[in-house]
Amino acid sequence: MRPLYFDHNATTPVAPRVFSAMRPYFEDGFGNPGSAHIWGLQARKAVDKARSQVAALIGARPEEIVFTGCATESNNAVLFGHFPDRSGHLAVSALEHPSVLAPAMALSAAGVTVDVISSGPDGVVCPADAAARILPRTRLVSVMLANNETGVIQPVADMAALAHAAGAAMHVDASQAVGKIDVNVDTLGADFLTIAGHKLYAPKGVGALYVRTGRELPPLLLGGGQEGGLRSGTENVALIAGLGEACAMAAADVAAEAARQERIRDAVEAGLLGLGYQAMIHGRGAPRLPNTTFIGFAGFRAVDILSECVTEDIGCGAGAACHGADTSISPVLAAMGVDRPYAEGTIRLSLGRSTTMEDGMELVERLGRILRRLSR
Ligand code: PLP
Repeated sequence: MRPLYFDHNATTPVAPRVFSAMRPYFEDGFGNPGSAHIWGLQARKAVDKARSQVAALIGARPEEIVFTGCATESNNAVLFGHFPDRSGHLAVSALEHPSVLAPAMALSAAGVTVDVISSGPDGVVCPADAAARILPRTRLVSVMLANNETGVIQPVADMAALAHAAGAAMHVDASQAVGKIDVNVDTLGADFLTIAGHKLYAPKGVGALYVRTGRELPPLLLGGGQEGGLRSGTENVALIAGLGEACAMAAADVAAEAARQERIRDAVEAGLLGLGYQAMIHGRGAPRLPNTTFIGFAGFRAVDILSECVTEDIGCGAGAACHGADTSISPVLAAMGVDRPYAEGTIRLSLGRSTTMEDGMELVERLGRILRRLSR
């Protein structure tokens, strides 16, 4: 049985052209970008090129891009960086990834007032609640562009308008959006924007943070002053070159690839709904990423579906805890107020560049077999 990988929101493979772009910097191009000789200059050129490629994909200027180790680091840097004195007000959405919510909780414990913007049942942040929670004393608003579970795209530009009217800065975790849909920092009104390399066919271990000109953050690491003084430490040249190439690849065909994946995703959804079980696609009524289906089958447990998926050689994610007796449901589904039977039976299927229509149809067939087995 050929494996079916439907977990691209967890991570993507490194694209061959990305791997090729990285390879020289593991070989002859091993120099330190801080060195003044030819080896160093070659490495510096690679980092500069990557910075321009990342900036171009999101409509930023190269000098506004800081390379980091991952999206978690970028998110932590923005949240902790805004509250060095551990006071003031932070507004975050209930739908955020733990790499935003955990720092928010830590800040709250340390003395920052944190308000959580609620979600509607469609998985979109509630505009009225946002308006009530973004206040003149708010320093930072953090709302993601696309949710990692539902794929629902958030009204970030509206959130940014509220933030700016209150005099606050706007942070956007765009880890799941960059490379999948068009992302432009000006259209969004983002002051800070997080990028995760391994979600767009670059390797793990590299991310980026967009910092709008005029906005400031304290240094994440002190030392030799790399990355405009924001993140000292010798640059991870090969991985940075990979992220640049991945961004160039996305820039070339993001709209066409989104349309292609959406056709397959829609066919998968139609196929799954046609299996005849009580099923619900979370966030279906809202704008969503073209590659994501978050579907709940009432009367099933995600943990059981996933263990059968291993047998059927399917890689996918779940919307509920997947170990032992733990039946906690995803905080995102909880925030959306999804009924427990649907929430407990929720799995996430996320497509990628290599996914074909044939894969999609095969997936429906295998999931159909699994659900039949589980309902016996
Ligand atoms: N933000 C979002 C929306 C994510 O989906 C993820 C990863 O799943 C992250 C942040 C964190 O990414 P990383 O684990 O690469 O730091």
